[in-house]
Amino acid sequence: TSFASLGLAEPLMRAILDVGYTQPTPIQAQAIPEVLKGIDLLAAAQTGTGKTAGFTLPILHLLLQHPAALKKAGRPRCLILTPTRELAAQVEESVRTYGQHTSIRSMVMFGGVNINPQINALRKPLDILVATPGRLLDHAQQKTVDLSGVEILVLDEADRMLDMGFIRDIKRIIALMPKTRQNLLFSATFSDEIRELSKGVLNKPVEVSV
Ligand code: AMP
Repeated sequence: TSFASLGLAEPLMRAILDVGYTQPTPIQAQAIPEVLKGIDLLAAAQTGTGKTAGFTLPILHLLLQHPAALKKAGRPRCLILTPTRELAAQVEESVRTYGQHTSIRSMVMFGGVNINPQINALRKPLDILVATPGRLLDHAQQKTVDLSGVEILVLDEADRMLDMGFIRDIKRIIALMPKTRQNLLFSATFSDEIRELSKGVLNKPVEVSV
């Protein structure tokens, strides 16, 4: 598989050229076509496999292809949940890199830092929000973030989120989003707990594994 054969939008192809990737990694070759179809995905992939571009690139493509129905501050179209602030920052950096030739706007939020700069940042339009669960719930409760426009949900490193005890937070967050949406779940392993979470969150997912 080549990047050219995946059918990604031109500004994304330019970003891929900029970062110097010559061909998709195995997880990218498997995941990107499925995500582009708009269907749910259950993916087994570890860090270092290129999984971040595997979901970020097709999500950017989908958002570019389907303009927002309603542009509003603090109301993302895509929510990416991660277990740690380091991963959240890293994923948002990837969104910026791959989306650099587009007008897609992203933001990262996590706990352990002052909430006020995040509240200020949420006063601007926003397409992709990368967040850790606890701080996102704080914002949702304060109504500084509005999850009613989420079209795509990503649970990144879902196994680690379960290990860290985020299951209740994740369920609370999901209850704030529209029922009809695309869901992507990435996990290093498919444990019984991940299968259980997947059953509750994903709708007839395609499975990919590397
Ligand atoms: P990830 O598994 O998403 O954390 O990515 C691991 C590393 O692989 C990151 O440093 C990416 O920049 C790099 N990477 C992602 N996709 C490709 C690709 N198709 N070719 C070369 N490097 C890549």
